Amino acid sequence: MILLFNTMSRSKEEFIPLVPGKVGMYTCGPTVYNFAHIGNLRAYVFADTLKRVLLDDGFEVKHVMNITDVGHLTDDADAGDDKMEAGAARERKSVWEIARFYEQAFKEDLELLNILSPTLFCRATEHIQEQIELIKRLEEKGFTYTIEDGVYLDTSKIEDYGKLARLDIDKLLAGARVAMAEGKKSPTDFALWKFSPKTKKRAMEWDSPWGPGFPGWHIECSAMGMKHLGETFDIHTGGIDHIPVHHTNEIAQSEAATGKVFVRYWLHNDFLVLEAAKMSKSSGEFLTLRKLIEMGYQPVDYRYFLLNSLYRRPATFTFEALDGARSAVSNLRDRVLSLREAKGSKNPQKAEEYLSQFRSAVRDDLNTPQGLAVLWNSLKDDELGPDEKNYLLGQFDAVLGLGMDRFEKKEEFIPEEVFALVEARQTARKNREFAEADSIRVRIQGLGFLVEDTAQGPQVRKA
Ligand code: AMP
Ligand code: ZN
Repeated sequence: MILLFNTMSRSKEEFIPLVPGKVGMYTCGPTVYNFAHIGNLRAYVFADTLKRVLLDDGFEVKHVMNITDVGHLTDDADAGDDKMEAGAARERKSVWEIARFYEQAFKEDLELLNILSPTLFCRATEHIQEQIELIKRLEEKGFTYTIEDGVYLDTSKIEDYGKLARLDIDKLLAGARVAMAEGKKSPTDFALWKFSPKTKKRAMEWDSPWGPGFPGWHIECSAMGMKHLGETFDIHTGGIDHIPVHHTNEIAQSEAATGKVFVRYWLHNDFLVLEAAKMSKSSGEFLTLRKLIEMGYQPVDYRYFLLNSLYRRPATFTFEALDGARSAVSNLRDRVLSLREAKGSKNPQKAEEYLSQFRSAVRDDLNTPQGLAVLWNSLKDDELGPDEKNYLLGQFDAVLGLGMDRFEKKEEFIPEEVFALVEARQTARKNREFAEADSIRVRIQGLGFLVEDTAQGPQVRKA
């Protein structure tokens, strides 16, 4: 039995999918105007852990993740600057170059963290028609109104608006300031389609029945979730910041359009905080996985750090804590390597007991800290032989995703994969694609190697 904390009911519930044996799961992906920061990556390690727990229990998982490559506004309330255009101006590139570059960088981060690739990545810009269709459905049912700057959802027509966040609508209305878009009827109403300014062509805009413009931010997740997983699906994940606005609005528009429950289990990770501050991508100052790698950490150190806290509690990032994780990973590596060559069985029955303890922990709303404790207890248990320990490590790692089967001795040979990357980097350099070459170098570092460019060509060595 898997227990998951459903934000909708504010309680742990037994997970029972819509179709026996199968799970449809949607994860809100990144807005690709900059690198993901390590806080964002917490959201994806959490979703990956959830998926691994489901797979370990025998479920078939269809996992969909969107790529927000349409430029939305920096502010949840449909105001502020366009994030993609700001990224393009910052780097003197086109919005499309920015979108593709940071999407690729994001996918590399996932790979470095040993996050299983979603069944499907879907780009918002490749689902404009589906978003328009959904808005048309809402319009036909009378849930929309059009004002100067766009088509809006009329949230007053939705009786249970705000149920996920348990918003106190009356209080919200009373406290609302007048800083609303001209003509917007209520502060909770939100844009489904925004019109391009009359005086200027936007870098990204599309035709629609309402005029040229671009979709509002929330509509993409409803349109793509429903297209790929059905009008009702099992699990939706994201960070807690999405509860009051983004997910609230996804629910409002999806359920208004279909008359059905949109998502059955809502799961949210709490934030990664840097000492006292919240990490923010738009402020520009933030830690990325690349920075950690440049500082000499391995991606697995960060993954271990994350697994060592409960996803539903805030996690405070400090370098001391990351050093602690690094030294745990290093101990684990030593054990894994010395067990790899060893043989002999002592007590298979006891191994099964450890496995069931581990599974109870991770199936209880992803208690990975407890899972790690079981792992260490079993490794230290002299009643288990190397066969049992190797078996357990394989089972545990299917869920933890630390990539233990790829742990290598420090002075060991350079794997083929690294050579292939070194070559790809040379090609990129020849073609003067320096950003690409740089990003490959970071990937090489992520695998634990350094490249140095010498007169004889690139030299590789263990980091
Ligand atoms: P964004 O690219 O801003 O849409 O964020 C991507 C994901 O990261 C979303 O699920 C956010 O809820 C999540 N997120 C943003 N900041 C943090 C943070 N500091 N800690 C954990 N998750 C975060
Ligand atoms: Zn979303």
